[in-house]
Amino acid sequence: MTVYVSQSAFWGLLISAVEVYKRECFGLLIGYRDRRGPQETFIVEHAIPYQTSRRRHKGVESNPRAHRRIERFLRSIPQLSVIGDFHSHTMWGYSRAANHPSETDLEGMRPENAYLIVGVNDRLREVPWNYNDDGSLSGTTDDHHFRLTAYTVTGAREPRRLPILCPYAIGFDARPLRAVK
Ligand SMILES: [Zn+2]
Repeated sequence: MTVYVSQSAFWGLLISAVEVYKRECFGLLIGYRDRRGPQETFIVEHAIPYQTSRRRHKGVESNPRAHRRIERFLRSIPQLSVIGDFHSHTMWGYSRAANHPSETDLEGMRPENAYLIVGVNDRLREVPWNYNDDGSLSGTTDDHHFRLTAYTVTGAREPRRLPILCPYAIGFDARPLRAVK
């Protein structure tokens, strides 16, 4: 299983995380599951921040009534549904953001969904956007370092990392190695 992040979702994740930095953001992943033979992909078309979540440094509280309203609304759009959620983990003092799900995060996860954790830290140096060996995606903007990690859970509530695919992120700050003629 892979998590494909569209250009719109990529910016949604980063902007939501930066807006409330150094608090945590929380929002919904909207898209669809694409199954081709044995290969299943979560296609994340949009990452929509929750305006009604209460933000604290450690953890955010979701709003179940708002969540149900959004799910009902999406029923009228056949190709899109809520396929998971996202939240950020941020730097606090000198301790840098961790990218693994907390116990509370795990309690809210369901095996049929995908979850993205956006780790945000102050930028120390410029790092080009790239995939990491653990399937996560990381890189920098002017002020921040981001690491996007995707998870799902097994039936026994064990977290499983899912590789992220985001061709847009890899391309958006890539510099050509030589001039293209
Ligand atoms: Zn968390």
